[in-house]
Amino acid sequence: MASKRVYNFSAGPSMLPLECLEKAGSEITNFNNTGMSVMEMSHRSKVFTSILQETKAGLKGLMKIPDNYEILFLQGGATLQFAMVPMNLMSRTGKADYAITGNFSGLAYNEARKYGTCNTAADTKDRNHTYIPAQQELITDKDASYFYYCANNTIYGTEWKYIPETGDVPIVCDMSSNILSCPVDISKYGIIFAGAQKNMSPAGLTVVIIRKDLPGRQFDYTPVMLNYEVMIKKDSMHNTPPCYNIYMLGLVVKWIEQKGGLEAMEQLKKERSSLLYDFLDNSGLFKCPVEPDSRSGMNVVFSTGDNELDTRFVSEAEKAGFFNLKGHRSVGGMRASIYNAMPVEGVKKLVEFMKDFELKNK
Ligand SMILES: *Cc1c(COP(=O)(O)O)cnc(C)c1O
Repeated sequence: MASKRVYNFSAGPSMLPLECLEKAGSEITNFNNTGMSVMEMSHRSKVFTSILQETKAGLKGLMKIPDNYEILFLQGGATLQFAMVPMNLMSRTGKADYAITGNFSGLAYNEARKYGTCNTAADTKDRNHTYIPAQQELITDKDASYFYYCANNTIYGTEWKYIPETGDVPIVCDMSSNILSCPVDISKYGIIFAGAQKNMSPAGLTVVIIRKDLPGRQFDYTPVMLNYEVMIKKDSMHNTPPCYNIYMLGLVVKWIEQKGGLEAMEQLKKERSSLLYDFLDNSGLFKCPVEPDSRSGMNVVFSTGDNELDTRFVSEAEKAGFFNLKGHRSVGGMRASIYNAMPVEGVKKLVEFMKDFELKNK
C-alpha cells in the first residue's frame, strides 16, 4: 500500500500521515466493534459524542489551550471565518485593524469591510508580499475591535516569527497553514482559526479556538450558524458537524503526540525547511524570492526565473515522483508545501532531484 504513494507537496488539501490513513482504513467499515463506519453514525450517538470529546481534549492538551478558551469544530472553511469574525466582533467599536501580508488576509480584509471600518495595519504589497512587517511598522489602533493577521502566507511563502503586540486589543489569527507546526502561546490570542485541510484533517472542517469573553456581541442579523455564542452553547452541534473529519483530526492529534508533540513538529519543520532554503541559497539556478527572516517553514516558494524552465521542472519532477510543485497561479514558479505529514526523506529526495536538474540545465 505504502509503496504506491508519491511525495505530495500539495498546498492543500495536502498529505495526511500515512499511519492515520491506514488506521482510518482499518476502521472504515466497523469502528471499534460498533458494526458501523464513523461516517454512518448519528452525531448524537454515544460513540460519536465520545469521539468529538476525545478529539477536543486531545487538541486542548496538544496545543496547551487554557481553560478560558473554547474549541469549535465548524464548516465553511477558513474563508467563512473572514465573515464570521467581523459579524461577531466588529460591534465592539465598529472598527478593526488588518495586517495584509498576502492573498488570504487581503480577502479577509475585503470581507470585513462590509461590517465596519477596517484600518490597514500593514500592507506588504509594495514588495510583492515577500516579507513580514516588523512590530514597529504596524499601525495599530488601541480602539480597534480586534487586530487581524494571517500567521503563514500559504501562497507567498512567508511566516510571522513573532506575535504582534496589540495591548488590550484581541488578536484574531488565521493559522490555516501552520497550526500544529510549533508550540503557540494561545493566551496571546482572542481567536485562532484554521481550515483543517492543510495540516490537520481532510477538507470540510474548520477549527476555531476562541477566548470565552469574546462571543455574544454579534450583529442582530447574524445567521445562527455564524454565531460563536450559539456554537459554543451547542458544543459545535447546533446541526450535524463534519463528523468524519473530526474523527480524522483525532487520529492526527494522537499521531503528533506519539511523535513527541508540537516541539517535535517544530524540530521537523526546521529540518525540512532548512534543507530546501540552504539548497536554494546556494543554487545557481533556483531562487527563493522571500526575504530570509520572513521565510515560511511550511510553504517554500522558488523559481528559476524562466517560465519555460519552471514548467519543465514541474513536469520532470512529477515523472520522478514529486507531485504538486507548481506554484500558485498568482505567483507562478514553484512551491513545495512541507507540512507535518511530509517525511524529511521526501524533502531530501526533492533536493537531490533539484541538484540533478540544475546540473543538467546550467
Ligand atoms: C487555504 C487557506 C485559506 C482558505 O481556506 P478555505 O478552507 O479553503 O476557506 C485561508 N487562509 C489560509 C492561510 C490558507 O492557507
